[in-house]
Amino acid sequence: MRNAIDRFRLDGKVALVTGAARGIGAACVELLAQAGAKVLVTDVLDDLGQKTAERIRESGAEAVYQRLDVTREDDWGAAVTKAVDTLGGLHVVVNNAGVEKVAPLLETTLEDWRRAHAVNLEGVFLGTRAAVDAMRPGGACGQGGSVVNISSAAGFVGMPGLSAYCSTKGGVRLFTKAVALECGRAGLGIRVNSVHPGVIQTQMLEDAAPSLIQLLAGGDEGRFQQLLDDLHPIGRPGRPEDVAAAVLFLASDAAGFITGTELVVDGGLTAQ
Ligand code: NAD
Repeated sequence: MRNAIDRFRLDGKVALVTGAARGIGAACVELLAQAGAKVLVTDVLDDLGQKTAERIRESGAEAVYQRLDVTREDDWGAAVTKAVDTLGGLHVVVNNAGVEKVAPLLETTLEDWRRAHAVNLEGVFLGTRAAVDAMRPGGACGQGGSVVNISSAAGFVGMPGLSAYCSTKGGVRLFTKAVALECGRAGLGIRVNSVHPGVIQTQMLEDAAPSLIQLLAGGDEGRFQQLLDDLHPIGRPGRPEDVAAAVLFLASDAAGFITGTELVVDGGLTAQ
């Protein structure tokens, strides 16, 4: 009989993660590989993505890098083909790639708005559609699977200076539920869930910090760091590994009865 704890492992499965060169995506491919999956590391940062895949191979797991701009339909077709032809299938897709630009509403250009939606929402649409098409019975892999969409705490609550970002992340949350219902009712054997991180220490936060320090802490960096700690009742911002653990769970058969839900990984931020 299969040991119950084995259901948390991904042996024999193939996982594709977008935006996996660094940050949360890199933590995801590393953990999924440790759990036994063969991983397709995808991003638009080719050098960094290659290095992430190399690090995983050095640890003894199977990893391949493929360039995938999530806004490009053609790239999605090529990535699915790569997963199936090179790694032998496709069972898990983590739609993680994202961009964030801090700007109060009146300083948000139409271009900013469209860019945020192109990557964070259209990218998730294209990725989920490609995944379901490949995993459904008769698809290129056809064995069912799990799609995990990375939304945000900002998909539940509004955040000042992030109206475009919040719009995309709220969209991901309900898009995920609708697709989960379709897949469940059609008996496709595909689960679709979203993950909602609080503030996580990655390059995205580093890049946004100067604007956030001005906007939220009157230019005082020490006060901003304190605000970040206080925002999370657990007393600290999150780490990429905190999010990867939730992704692994949803990707695995241990979550076999879980679809259309939101897994909040925010140190209590949205519980307040
Ligand atoms: P990050 O900036 O470190 O990583 C994002 C990755 O996405 C980068 O490697 C980047 O190259 C890639 N990317 C950007 N545009 C792309 C495109 N068009 N195609 C493919 N890849 C693209 O940020 P992160 O914090 O690791 O963010 C990962 C996800 O987590 C994002 O969806 C983000 O919105 C979400 N998130 C982050 C936080 C946070 O505080 N860091 C909080 C909640 C949710």
